Amino acid sequence: MNKWEYAESIESSSIVNIDKKYGIFIDGNFQSANSKKFIKTISPSTEEVLSSVTLGNEIDINSAVESAKEGLKIWSKISGTERAKYLFKLARLIQERSREFAVLETLDGGKPIKESRDFDLPQVAANFFYFAGWADKLDLSWNAKGLKPYGIIGQIIPWNFPLLMLSWKVAPALATGNVVILKPAESTPLTAILFAELCQEVGLPPGVFNLVTGDGTTGAALVKHPDISKIAFTGSTGVGKYIQKETADRDIGLTLELGGKAANIVFNDAAIDQAVEGVVNGIFFNQGHVCCAGSRLVLQEDIHDEFVTKLEKRMQSLRVGNPLDKNTDIGAINSKEQLDKITNLVNEGVKEGGSIFQTDCELPQNGFWFKPTLFTNAQPSYRISREEIFGPVLTTLTFRTPEEAIEISNNTEYGLSAGIWTEKGSKILWAADRLQAGVIWANTFNKFDPSSPFGGYKESGFGREGGRHGLLSYLKVQS
Ligand code: NAP
Ligand code: MG
Repeated sequence: MNKWEYAESIESSSIVNIDKKYGIFIDGNFQSANSKKFIKTISPSTEEVLSSVTLGNEIDINSAVESAKEGLKIWSKISGTERAKYLFKLARLIQERSREFAVLETLDGGKPIKESRDFDLPQVAANFFYFAGWADKLDLSWNAKGLKPYGIIGQIIPWNFPLLMLSWKVAPALATGNVVILKPAESTPLTAILFAELCQEVGLPPGVFNLVTGDGTTGAALVKHPDISKIAFTGSTGVGKYIQKETADRDIGLTLELGGKAANIVFNDAAIDQAVEGVVNGIFFNQGHVCCAGSRLVLQEDIHDEFVTKLEKRMQSLRVGNPLDKNTDIGAINSKEQLDKITNLVNEGVKEGGSIFQTDCELPQNGFWFKPTLFTNAQPSYRISREEIFGPVLTTLTFRTPEEAIEISNNTEYGLSAGIWTEKGSKILWAADRLQAGVIWANTFNKFDPSSPFGGYKESGFGREGGRHGLLSYLKVQS
């Protein structure tokens, strides 16, 4: 087959300045930590070491809490209008330096530059603008006289959308008058560090935003600290359950944004070509490292063969490789650990009897890569149908009747998102009513807006981020 070959179009990484080592950001400054241990963060597309960041310990968390207490004294005396000014300034600076942030995100995490540039960064800025707009209007939106900020919020985020998850957490927390201690994921700390530099640049009062890098032990120390008033966590269901147990006997707020195994349902009356595009976007966006990824294709049986043929053809055109190349559709898998997890589950899928299709792209020598993968002939009981793979792997399940589509889709412990593809509006409403998912897209997938609440139920967690609901997650009833 003749293939179109694209000339490389590599985004220059000379715009970013990365220090060899970073301390923790407390009292409005980067400081050396009590911990003398560091974690190397690498570029998963080359395995090159980018920097070393502090592996924060319990004493570092204590220092961050003391810093946050001082920050809260200042922040709680500042009016909503003044808080908004800081957030607007941050939003504008993020826009001004968005190329720098996008390149850094791609280097540290492996996602394609076209996604960090055209999706992550615009969304990050939009979140800060959106929540900045709310900061002086809280009294107008609810009977907010009965509500008050929690105080010190511990925020723990994953590696798949590092800066975007920061913005989902930090912007509403600060807008509502709280102060923050953030623990980013160990494989992607660098954009959070650059964000801390912006906080200095806008003159955010010391202690309002604090950053302690580290691993799971750092996160656990934050969760255990008695002076934290709320934990906002995004990550795996396993760690979410641990945090819920750990905080169960304390008067503390908690939101959990956890995993998913979303059904993307295609009915036989759907516009097939659009649905193929939507299914591709639903699972291959960000290498499938997406909590709400449409990782189960729930397909009406009578269009199975036609759909799969078109889908495989479309998958062959996905360009896998250097994430800094502007033509790249699928970048590097975020870490060796995640690559091993994906590989194991895919091997398991083959063993259990699924038919596997992988595109015949060439993978780079260094770094962590996985070919776009489609399973057909899978049973709902297979691990690839039940477990979150968090990689570019789609599992197909078939149905005959709409009722069966709902039954298959809801047959999961998760409940984060779902997609419906049909030309009939009535079928969309019928299905949406019955699907157990926090977010449901119809004839589209993976669409986000800061004004639209996002979150799950069942084992996908509780609490909402985004919109007015997202603000409420950072306010509690005055006692
Ligand atoms: P993870 O292992 O749960 O890690 C998430 C964060 O928690 C990281 O910062 C991690 O630190 C930290 N952590 C690990 N153990 C901890 C502990 N015992 N106490 C406190 N913090 C701890 O999840 P992940 O593998 O990074 O991320 C992928 C998961 O996130 C997927 O399940 C995905 O679905 C979910 N996710 C959900 C949403 C949503 O909105 N629902 C959005 C994005 C991702 P280290 O990185 O240092 O281990
Ligand atoms: Mg990294």
